[in-house]
Amino acid sequence: MTAFEIKKAICEVGHKLYDHGFVAANDGNISVKVSDNEYYCTPTGVSKGDLTPDMIIKIDGTGKKLEGKLNPSSEIKMHLRVYRERPDVNAVVHAHPPVATAFTVAGIPLDQYILPEAILTMGAVPTCEYGTPSTMEIPDSLAPYIQDNDAFLLKNHGALTVGNTLKKAFFLMEEVEFNAQICKHARELGNVEEIPCDQLEKLMELRKKMQIPGRHPGCKKCKNLGTENCRCKHNAESKSTCSCGTSAASADEDLVAAITKKVLAALGR
Ligand SMILES: [Zn+2]
Repeated sequence: MTAFEIKKAICEVGHKLYDHGFVAANDGNISVKVSDNEYYCTPTGVSKGDLTPDMIIKIDGTGKKLEGKLNPSSEIKMHLRVYRERPDVNAVVHAHPPVATAFTVAGIPLDQYILPEAILTMGAVPTCEYGTPSTMEIPDSLAPYIQDNDAFLLKNHGALTVGNTLKKAFFLMEEVEFNAQICKHARELGNVEEIPCDQLEKLMELRKKMQIPGRHPGCKKCKNLGTENCRCKHNAESKSTCSCGTSAASADEDLVAAITKKVLAALGR
């Protein structure tokens, strides 16, 4: 990709963040790694909906501006922290998607296994401790989760997603918010039934088989496996019996095939 094409791609992601309502005013920031010590990023003080390629600036690994008229955002520190600790990451997206952010405000973790796509692509999304924007508190809050996750919630603030490509990082941001919306709707309907443990194992095997790039925290099995309080218990009466009970569910090959197709399409393969 040429420099212009990268800048254009950053602008397009910015426009989508704005159009999706993932940012208000000048919120959010996007960066792309172009070499070991060079990054293109969005400037401070500009709405992501108004970005044009000439506004994109180039910085080094310390945040010093190398090219461009405008100045980098103070939140770029968390991007640089990710690049330093995760050499596999080539793009970082930060936004304030409202429903996912509301979960952090409500103190409800987004760690329920409810959608196959979300389990495959990111697993449970950790909530990082609250930090003052523009300080080192936010980059530091990522530290406990940075090696095992590609999507992070920032308490009472927003979300951060990373990827080997900009497209992947943006799709993860969409996935975080979509997963949060479905979870919220299910809670409003009065019940959340998670995907049972044996199905989680299948999805994790599928992830391995598909060689999906990036990191994943794995799926924690129900702590109460096989007991009265097992969270998979709700499946005991349905035909899809949980593996923590007595009979294992039969493989739903159609479902697995459909998900594989969707995920591959999303990754542009
Ligand atoms: Zn922010």
